[in-house]
Amino acid sequence: MKYIGAHVSAAGGVENAPLNAYNIGATAFALFTKNQKQWVAPPLSEKSIELFKQRCAEWGFAPNTILPHDSYLINLGHPTDEGLAKSRAAFVDEMSRCQQLGLDRLNFHPGSHLKAISETECLRRIAESINIALDKTQGVIAVLENTAGQGSNMGHRFEHLAEIIEQVEDKTRVGVCIDTCHAFAAGYNLLPGAADSLFGADAAEVTFDTVFSEFDRIVGFKYLRGMHLNDAKKPLGSRVDRHDSLGLGELGKGVFKRLMEDPRFDDIPLILETPNVDIWAEEIAELKGWAGV
Ligand SMILES: [Zn+2]
Ligand SMILES: [Zn+2]
Repeated sequence: MKYIGAHVSAAGGVENAPLNAYNIGATAFALFTKNQKQWVAPPLSEKSIELFKQRCAEWGFAPNTILPHDSYLINLGHPTDEGLAKSRAAFVDEMSRCQQLGLDRLNFHPGSHLKAISETECLRRIAESINIALDKTQGVIAVLENTAGQGSNMGHRFEHLAEIIEQVEDKTRVGVCIDTCHAFAAGYNLLPGAADSLFGADAAEVTFDTVFSEFDRIVGFKYLRGMHLNDAKKPLGSRVDRHDSLGLGELGKGVFKRLMEDPRFDDIPLILETPNVDIWAEEIAELKGWAGV
């Protein structure tokens, strides 16, 4: 079964997210459980938690259709002890909020080395951060998102995700989310049947199928806990993270139709982070049509 939605607003309280999702015909959604631009937030109220759970139950949003996203301020691979401690504390709070809401996964960008430590050391710190957070919480899976590789962001190679997972002690509580725009910007050519790629002439047949068999070999579909469905404004390998509405960017609608027809993407939240909020309902309806749901 395909579960399709968008990263909806939780303004006014987390309980508004399922309402906003329901109103656009979504069967999945993403949300921030606190203001994503601030380090600290007041705890969730009992009333908010109750109403959130009640609405999710009423409209059929099970935990495997909901993909909360953490604050963009958090850097679990931070090069300084102080920056790392601050990020780790904030991440534990984010995981705890998910736990309080009865959710089973939290999506986050792995981290950045800020050109102050090696990539290997940054990946080690990220894994250690996850181990600490898993130790302090229960039942919530830490879901690493692939990135476009802007600046010093790690996570733009499947190998980065695999290396982090390798160092996480409890493999049942670590997962990944693949963002189509980020993958394309990072050099993974998802265009069905397209021929050229960053990997050079000897890898001329890098296409949707090749990319995802590489993903399966390096990371493994068993770790896939969500997808972000975004078209890409910038070309293949640009390393620039700019989302576009489906069909308006470099990817085109074919990629998303292909995804909707593929059972490897069943039973996880499939989330739009496309820029035009006004057409989310249409985008969801079209995706549902391709998926036959
Ligand atoms: Zn994303
Ligand atoms: Zn992005």
